[in-house]
This record gives sequence, C-alpha cells and structure tokens, in this order.
Amino acid sequence: MTRSRGWVLETSSRSQDALDSLIKQASLALVPAVVKLDLTYACNQKCVHCCVVPERREDLSLEEIRVLFAEIADKGCLYLSLSGGEIFLRKDLPDILEEAQRCGFSLRLMTNGSLIPPEMIPRMRKYRVGEVDVSLYGDTAEVHESVTRVAGSFEKTVASIRRMREAGIRIKIGLIILKQNIHRFRQMVDLAESLGTTWNLDGSILRRFDGSEAPLAFQVPVSELADVVEYRERRMPDLKHMKEAWNREKWLEGVPCGAGRAMCTISPYGDVFPCSVMPMLAGNIREQSFAEIWDHSEVLKRVRAIRRRDLETCATCELAPFCVLCPGRSVLDNGSLTEPSLFRCSETAIHRDVYEKIYLEGGSCDEPRE
Ligand code: SF4
Ligand code: SF4
Repeated sequence: MTRSRGWVLETSSRSQDALDSLIKQASLALVPAVVKLDLTYACNQKCVHCCVVPERREDLSLEEIRVLFAEIADKGCLYLSLSGGEIFLRKDLPDILEEAQRCGFSLRLMTNGSLIPPEMIPRMRKYRVGEVDVSLYGDTAEVHESVTRVAGSFEKTVASIRRMREAGIRIKIGLIILKQNIHRFRQMVDLAESLGTTWNLDGSILRRFDGSEAPLAFQVPVSELADVVEYRERRMPDLKHMKEAWNREKWLEGVPCGAGRAMCTISPYGDVFPCSVMPMLAGNIREQSFAEIWDHSEVLKRVRAIRRRDLETCATCELAPFCVLCPGRSVLDNGSLTEPSLFRCSETAIHRDVYEKIYLEGGSCDEPRE
C-alpha cells in the first residue's frame, strides 16, 4: 500500500519514497511490483477492532504458495508483504520465507509481534526481510491489552521489538488509534521512538470483510483526531508540500492510486483483490493462474480504467490538494469506486484546517506551539 496521508501518518524515509516512485512507474506499466499475501486469518489475539473474517476454506498450502511465488516473480513482483491474521502461527513460515528469498523478493512482514520465536530473528536478515511492521495499541500493558484482549501480549510484543532492533532489523510500529488509547497517542510515539523504530499513527478503522460495522464502534470520531494530525504535521511536515506541489490539471489526469495496477492482495484462500481494502474479487489462484487473473480480470480492468477526472465529486473538490484518494475505502464505505468516502472527506477537511492553523495563522512547523 502506498504511503497515505490520511490517518496513516508515517515517518518519512528514503526507502518509502523509493517505493512510492516504483509504484508510480509500475502503475504505468501495469506490473504487480508490490504484492501482499495474507498467509492465514487465524490469530492468537482478539483485537476489538479486527476486520478479518476467517472462513472454513483451507489456507494456501506451502506447495500452492511456491507456485504462486514463481508466478508473481514472473510478472515482475519485487516487494512481497506477508500478513494475516498472525503469520507466526504458520508452522511452515520458515519454508515460506526461504522460498520468498529464493524468488528474490524484498520482504516485509506484518505481525502483532507476540509470537516471534527468538531463534527466528537472526534468520530474518538471511531471508532478506527489509522491514517488520508491528501493531501496538498502547504504551502500557493495560492500554494495549484493552484492545488485544490477551494478557501478557504487550510484554511479548515489546520484547520481540527489542530483540529485532538488537539484530539490526528495521521495524515500523503501527500505532493504531482507537477510543481506548487516543488519550495516550503522544506516549505511544515516545515508546516507539525509545525502541528505536519508525512509526505511523493510524486512526482509520475499517468495516469487517463480511460487511459488519462492529469494528467502527471503536473508531475515534474524525473531529477528535485533529490533535493527532496537528501533532504529526509538527513532527513530520507533509501537508505544506502536498499543497504546494498540487496542480489540478496534472492531478485530474492521474489515476487515484496503484490498486490493481502496481499492487494487489491475495487472501489465504487464493482470492485476488486489487488491494487489501478493496473488496472486489478479481479471481482465485486455485482456479486460474495469477497471470491470467492479472492480465484478463474484468474487475481489474474496471479499477484500472478510472482516472481522477472520472470522480465527479472529487474532480471539483476544493479540498483535493489535501486529499489522498482511496477508492478502496469508497468501495468499503459506499459500495462504489467513484463516490467519495465520507470518512475520507472529513479527514481531508481536518488536513486543510491543520494546514491553515500552522501555516496561514502565523505559526511554523519548526516552532512548535504546544
Ligand atoms: S475530500 Fe472527498 S470529495 Fe474531496 S477529493 Fe477527497 S475524497 Fe474527493
Ligand atoms: S485503494 Fe486505498 S488503500 Fe488501496 S492502494 Fe488505493 S489508496 Fe491505497
């Protein structure tokens, strides 16, 4: 997934910029340079806001994964993210990593961090693991575990992060902001920094994959996230650049994002989607080869055909310079690729307000006023 300036507020890095640039190039050439594979939807935690829905179908076997890796490598995949559920529940994970390494992918692992065997950590570099993304929900066990609902999970996750840092592995902590922890977001950032990791602040909660709105009960109302956006902008200025670099004509000609053009997501059951938040089934690798799906899926063709100009409301929107369009979120929220998500519009209005507060009312991001 590309860096989002929505509620996913990431520390900037050269590698992220390089990835963004690669996605742009791959989008033009329709090369699936970035693939996310969910290895299982089983998990050892019971996070209150989880949007994953395990099914009765079997997870892809190691042999099926081997065939898939060869196919996506053949189509030009360079970056492979392995996610879940919890990937460390798969007993064959070392074999999967070995195979990914053999195919030459740069690997990113997404995990809750509470199940990583210490003996696995030194091997991660050998497997070309470029980054491990770990989710954290609090700066104390009490806050974190009010979300994970598993006693002891905070200590295990933090211990794994420390071990991986000691082994020189790049970690990004996803600080997921919910009603349970919004009052601690600054302390959560302090903890991530004390652990020597990069971080992002993510306040966007998604519906469950089966359409249930249950996770949204934990979503902080957008208006109450203004402090988080302001804090991020003062720490990592980004909105100013977005505003200054924005050009309506160029923007209208572009595509909303790399979903289905440079990236896709594959479920543990082999279902292929344009991206992890866009619930539009393009095909299943148990029924067709990946290449057949990538080259011929009608769903992918529909997603690829959209230009920002086609998005009626967005095309004339005054907030557009502060917006990172997410057609996946539109599909999730409205069932439409082209109708804007109201959540995204509300968060973009906050971006504009924070921009005006910091840059047009006499302040400066270099002179924090907190
Ligand atoms: S703020 Fe809403 S309407 Fe405006 S560009 Fe973004 S998604 Fe479209
Ligand atoms: S649909 Fe949204 S989450 Fe998916 S790639 Fe596009 S911007 Fe990113």
